[in-house]
Amino acid sequence: MESLDVLTSLVAGGGVVVLSGAGLSTESGIPDYRGPSGVARRHTPMTFQAFTGDPLARRRYWARSHLGWRLIARAAPNAGHRAVAGLQRAGLVDAVITQNVDGLHGAAGSPAVIELHGRLDEVTCLDCGNLTSREEVDRRLREANPDFVAQVAAVNPDGDVDLPDRQVAAFRPVDCGICGTGMLKPDVVFFGETVPPERVARCFAVVEQARAVLVLGSSLTVMSGRRFVIRAAKRGIAVAIVNQGPTRGDGYATLSVDAPLGVVLPALADRLTGADAATIGAPTPV
Ligand SMILES: [Zn+2]
Repeated sequence: MESLDVLTSLVAGGGVVVLSGAGLSTESGIPDYRGPSGVARRHTPMTFQAFTGDPLARRRYWARSHLGWRLIARAAPNAGHRAVAGLQRAGLVDAVITQNVDGLHGAAGSPAVIELHGRLDEVTCLDCGNLTSREEVDRRLREANPDFVAQVAAVNPDGDVDLPDRQVAAFRPVDCGICGTGMLKPDVVFFGETVPPERVARCFAVVEQARAVLVLGSSLTVMSGRRFVIRAAKRGIAVAIVNQGPTRGDGYATLSVDAPLGVVLPALADRLTGADAATIGAPTPV
């Protein structure tokens, strides 16, 4: 594959910042919002406004998330996550920014991942600000809902699942275990919510120091991630995109590879960090 040669040359130069999206985790069993066909998910994601302003919406969210969490918690990193961690260890990838909330980069051994949209395995109190592990909240939710059993039809990348209304009605969410009354929310950035400014600033800082930005498995639909690609392009920093299907960043990219990450990333890592790495020599410009 000629584009793999070009990608190899680019990454071989080092100074790469990875920006990853849901497409990287699909092979871990966590489906993308939009697959290669571009078909959107079945229902609209919860907005921050609905979550905080509507008790029924909040109950629906926690009921679905209570079930979805078990599937997310079971998910293991795949060959793509491991390849990224390998490229970091080899000193070729300097930083990873992920739009995913599943923690799988860290589980694969990637150090210092910037989790742009937060982590699903932590829960924050919107009143006292206390952070609790999802495991602890999960234990309390099980206690509060001993008879809650439901069939999950499908799970979404944010740990949300499809669930009938009658099952939602029977579910009892829990409040903060520290202040006693505070509203609990997974420590992820909801739609309609802004990413904390200091986190965005850190991302811009690593992007601006990069030699190249490598987008993995994101359609760059939302500005939250696309802005880093735009900034890189404006600064003359190379942008490479590996994704199945077109992305909204293609106009900024110097290289677009439309292929499965589970094929491209292990091949890339093998070439650059595998036993044959020493024999590659200087990458050939294409
Ligand atoms: Zn609290």
